[in-house]
Amino acid sequence: MGFFDKLKRAFGGETTEQASEEEKKYDRGLEKSRKTFGDKLNALFANFRSVDEEFFDELEETLIEADVGFETAVRISDELKEEVKLRNAKDKQAVSQAIIEKLVALYEAEGKREENALHFAPAGPTVFLFVGVNGVGKTTTIGKLAHRFKNEGKKVLLAAADTFRAGAIEQLVEWGKRVDVAVVHKKEGSDPAAVVFDAVQRAKEEDYDVLLVDTAGRLQNKVNLMNELAKIARVITRELPDAPQEVLLALDATTGQNALTQAKQFKEVTNVTGIVLTKLDGTARGGIVLAIRNELHLPVKLVGLGEQMDDLRDFEPEEFVYGLFKGLV
Ligand code: GDP
Ligand code: MG
Repeated sequence: MGFFDKLKRAFGGETTEQASEEEKKYDRGLEKSRKTFGDKLNALFANFRSVDEEFFDELEETLIEADVGFETAVRISDELKEEVKLRNAKDKQAVSQAIIEKLVALYEAEGKREENALHFAPAGPTVFLFVGVNGVGKTTTIGKLAHRFKNEGKKVLLAAADTFRAGAIEQLVEWGKRVDVAVVHKKEGSDPAAVVFDAVQRAKEEDYDVLLVDTAGRLQNKVNLMNELAKIARVITRELPDAPQEVLLALDATTGQNALTQAKQFKEVTNVTGIVLTKLDGTARGGIVLAIRNELHLPVKLVGLGEQMDDLRDFEPEEFVYGLFKGLV
């Protein structure tokens, strides 16, 4: 399928009303990112004279500013040099088209070995463990996901294993009420692994389909965090050998390159299987998705587009990349 066909498909007309509502939401969520990214590329092309070294330096800078990451920016720029030579592209139109196609191709190639879909246990409870520093959106994402799974007819249980602050426990209990699912919790300061132990027992005994575990992500003390997460994982695996099916790292898209640093650190302390990129609605830094893909080789599985219970989406790479470039082509 050609580039424009894909664009048409991603934002095409022949969709049901509900799907187009979905599209609009996604579209709005990406608006800031698209605008900044588009504006930057447009500014670059406004000053376009010819494809020389200076042009590629400026392109690299533009990409770095758009938060695609340093390595990724250099790589795109290098590959593009080749491509432009190969095509003998000289004018603005041909060069900008080559850039867009290169970005999409690069994203898709990197994604080949990665699976964006969430994994479930074929039978018995599925366990998802949520990790990430304070404030990135773990608890909110758990609430949203509980709402989704419940709507799908699944029996959902939550575990409040962020026992560090009383507020964190209350917040999860509140989400449990809001979306009408049960929450296993103990008092502030309890051993998180003990909360998880109780939750896993209950999930097994009462035939729950999904158990979502909230944790405290205090990166300040990496050794402690590593031990705590390892202990939680051991408790889960002892009862359910194939669980947790996912260890999802929540990252706040508004923090840009900081999110990337956090991801690198969390990869060192636990076996992360995927990313939840939150707060995409509040940022112009959507380019971070390209950096995550290229530098961490972790799939983005979910994206947060707001604070409400249905503001969570599966990550669709094509839709996302074409969404970023929508205004440009
Ligand atoms: P946690 O500390 O990782 O559990 O983070 P929380 O779930 O408590 O979220 C921190 C703040 O971010 C809350 O005010 C949430 O409402 C907000 N938040 C979470 N996800 C999103 C999102 O996708 N978009 C927006 N705009 N806000 C979000
Ligand atoms: Mg929390």
